[in-house]
Amino acid sequence: MSVSATVAVHTAGQDGITMQEVILPSPTGHQVLVTIEASGLCRSQLRQMTLHGSGAPYLLGHEGVGVVAEVGPDVRDLNVGDRVVVTWIPVTGEGVRTPQWATVDLGDGVVAETIDGIFTWGTHTLVDESFLVPLTAADTDPALSLVGCALITGLGSAVYVGECSLGENVVVIGAGGVGLAAIAGAACAGAAQVLAVDIDDAALALARELGATSTLNSRTSDLVEHVRATMGRGGMRGADLVIDCVGETLTANQALECARPAIQGSGIGGRVVVAGVREVPITFEGAQFVIDQKRITGALAGGMGRREILTTLDAIRSGRVNVGGMVTETARLADLGKAVERLRRGEIHGRALVVS
Ligand SMILES: [Zn+2]
Repeated sequence: MSVSATVAVHTAGQDGITMQEVILPSPTGHQVLVTIEASGLCRSQLRQMTLHGSGAPYLLGHEGVGVVAEVGPDVRDLNVGDRVVVTWIPVTGEGVRTPQWATVDLGDGVVAETIDGIFTWGTHTLVDESFLVPLTAADTDPALSLVGCALITGLGSAVYVGECSLGENVVVIGAGGVGLAAIAGAACAGAAQVLAVDIDDAALALARELGATSTLNSRTSDLVEHVRATMGRGGMRGADLVIDCVGETLTANQALECARPAIQGSGIGGRVVVAGVREVPITFEGAQFVIDQKRITGALAGGMGRREILTTLDAIRSGRVNVGGMVTETARLADLGKAVERLRRGEIHGRALVVS
């Protein structure tokens, strides 16, 4: 059964989005029609609006939570009425089947595409089941939308890619949606110190609520000096793990300088995880990799797959990860355009949600 839906459309060259009425057809194959209840505003969508250049209109939004309205004939594990997270990471069928990327007919022969294979900025979405994570009937918190992107990107950068372990000293640069999730992940993993770094005091206040043991405004204080003064292990000053959620040459180099050199004989220096991309290319001073034996790695979606996402959901349900605390404002879908503008102007701390 086809449904009338409202979706956000972005056209190349535009700064913002327009809301359009469309007809979504019945799902085919492995597709699932989901009624979206809440969707998050991710900064990477702003980047996508700037970068995409095919000229085709795009549907946006890559994290959401909702209820299955209809399933395609090949869908086996989901049923009408099931609650789901919509994520841009294919979580089923990997290596077995290539997920079908969503497209939507806008009428007059115009077909909108998607950048990540899914869209969540709208009243409904029509997605491949590979992009859906099942929830329980009790999982009604709209903040679970963040499991689709921000939470897994940040928490996974700390826990899975960064391999944060008990008693380690961690620095998180950038306390937006992803940074807050990295802080929560490091705290959950048992880090001794979690230093949150940002240029905005309001973001830092929020970081303390999510598990940061200390904060630093890098606009007014010297980050590297502070870390070397307050963190160390085995006589080597600096952090065991630094997560750069910004991804610029400046922050990636600060991260590398904050990481501690290898303890003599261990051959293992501090680790840096770059979890954000704002600048390409990023350049480094190379000697630290050799002499200090520091390690740097990139993280896409926190290195998570289905199993890790399900484990994270359990951590949320048991209260060990406060995903609700990362949501700082909620807007109506009709006001999505205004919320996107606020995101662009840097006025949103943490994560904003839009609800249908
Ligand atoms: Zn995102």
